[in-house]
Amino acid sequence: MTDALIHAIDTRRAALIGLAQDLIRIPTLNPPGRNYREICDYLSTRLIAQGWTVELIRATGAPGDSDAYPRWNMVARMDSGRPGDCVHFNSHHDVVVVGHGWTRDPFGGVLDGDRIYGRGACDMKGGLAASLIAAEAFLATTPGWRGSIEISATADEESGGYGGVAYLAERGHFSPDRVQHVIIPEPLHKDRICLGHRGVWWAEVETHGRIAHGSMPFLGDSAIRHMGAVLEEIEDHLYPLLESRTTAMPVVPPQARQSSLNINSIHGGEAEPPEGSTALPAPCVADRCRIVLDRRFLIEEAVDEVKAEMRAVLDRVQERRPTFRYTIRDLFEVQPVMTDRDAPVVRSTAAAIERVLGQVADYVVSPGTYDQKHIDRIGRLKNCIAYGPGLLHLAHQPDEWVGVQDMADSSKVMALVLHDLLG
Ligand SMILES: [Zn+2]
Repeated sequence: MTDALIHAIDTRRAALIGLAQDLIRIPTLNPPGRNYREICDYLSTRLIAQGWTVELIRATGAPGDSDAYPRWNMVARMDSGRPGDCVHFNSHHDVVVVGHGWTRDPFGGVLDGDRIYGRGACDMKGGLAASLIAAEAFLATTPGWRGSIEISATADEESGGYGGVAYLAERGHFSPDRVQHVIIPEPLHKDRICLGHRGVWWAEVETHGRIAHGSMPFLGDSAIRHMGAVLEEIEDHLYPLLESRTTAMPVVPPQARQSSLNINSIHGGEAEPPEGSTALPAPCVADRCRIVLDRRFLIEEAVDEVKAEMRAVLDRVQERRPTFRYTIRDLFEVQPVMTDRDAPVVRSTAAAIERVLGQVADYVVSPGTYDQKHIDRIGRLKNCIAYGPGLLHLAHQPDEWVGVQDMADSSKVMALVLHDLLG
């Protein structure tokens, strides 16, 4: 029974390659959000011809949406007419900027040996192609299947997903009464099941001082020196504390298996003259200094504790420095998520990996977030994983590529999951 399904994917190898190439050749660059309508039209033409019901949804009013760069999304649904679960494959269709260092045409979709090159090849048009072929092979070989299948191609994952999955989730597209299983074919490698991601908190910390002439700094109060004391406190006390924490989250790479803190930027004092200008900078004591913090946290940590810990750092500095004043402002936060290993979509995918690859699946967690955050928080759907072909470290790099054999193998895994859950 499943032999026919696996064979159906082998016979579609050329179609799989052609589909991935076609998708790569539509440059859906984000920013600014180019050709979103074109890629949705391309996919919907293919799916409508096979009998899928397709909705094109523009995320009107979402960040980045404009008439010049409309945020288009596509959701396709195939209903068996028989009761059963719905399995949803969600891929983002946007790709990041090309950047420097390419030796291949980033939008050529060139096949060389086992590799297809291009921006978005692994992140994640290869995964999108693999999920489509999986669904097509399943439908062709499984008469009498139950439930429904959905395939979505969504906007703006690379810029937070607010014009994509978040927009759809807010409108009920991922509510548990409509969708029961979600697979996001991000490039996590074909033998790995990604259960979720760490949490994020971005904040801006500003120290306040008093401006004075630079020749008489004793008349002022330097916000930069205050910030220096903050950085020292972080260095001496917060970093060792974060590094001492352990987690049950199997984050890869293993160095990310702890809390982390990046100081994204620092700005203090008067603005400097523009580059190339011959003007001298202003001779002033800095009356303010700002840093932006990027704190990644674990499922064992509550976001309120994470924030309180940073305020405690600032309060300790205040105890030592009588004129120290600060403000702290939240910029962005995402809760950590980790799907249970016993969730139906996890067990089904693990069994399929063993069948196709002859090895036990690896369970991983991503150091950074992706669209699962919206499905979890807004959609309230917990039965969700990322699983797809490609190597994560190639994403966003020059000469990005996806392996044809990897795409075919992960397509087989996805087809077997459909067979298990809907067959
Ligand atoms: Zn991606």
